[in-house]
Amino acid sequence: MDKSTRDALQNAKFEDTYIHTDGMPWTPFSDGIEIKVLRTSQESGTWTTLFRCAKGSSFARHEHLGAGEYLMLSGKMEVRGGVEKGGITAYPGDYGYEPNGMIHDSTCFPESSVFYFTNYGPIRFMDDEDKTIFVLDWKAVAKIGADSAASARAAE
Ligand code: ZN
Repeated sequence: MDKSTRDALQNAKFEDTYIHTDGMPWTPFSDGIEIKVLRTSQESGTWTTLFRCAKGSSFARHEHLGAGEYLMLSGKMEVRGGVEKGGITAYPGDYGYEPNGMIHDSTCFPESSVFYFTNYGPIRFMDDEDKTIFVLDWKAVAKIGADSAASARAAE
């Protein structure tokens, strides 16, 4: 059996994912922030998205109940107040890993920004007394993606 036949037989057991993200609509996520849901996993609880954040927008206080990874694609993100306040300021091309258990009081976007994001579990949004406001898990992310796809089809 030649190599290409062996490879084809091997790969037929799997299903790869390919998404032309430019063809997807942005869906409102929170004030000034939009999302494209690329993948969610019921098996691992992992989810992968793009976020587009308007200049001046921010993510509310939250706790990572799973590590997160990001890659900045455009703009500027200030994590934990940005580098001037002891946090991180991420620019296009920058990669970050956010450990499980990390608390982010506020993540700000001083410029219009887009970044790729994977979280290996839920994110718990909370108030200043650490009371849960809502939990963003793979199910909630999958629902955003499904609702967005349904409204895109309805608009066709
Ligand atoms: Zn965070």
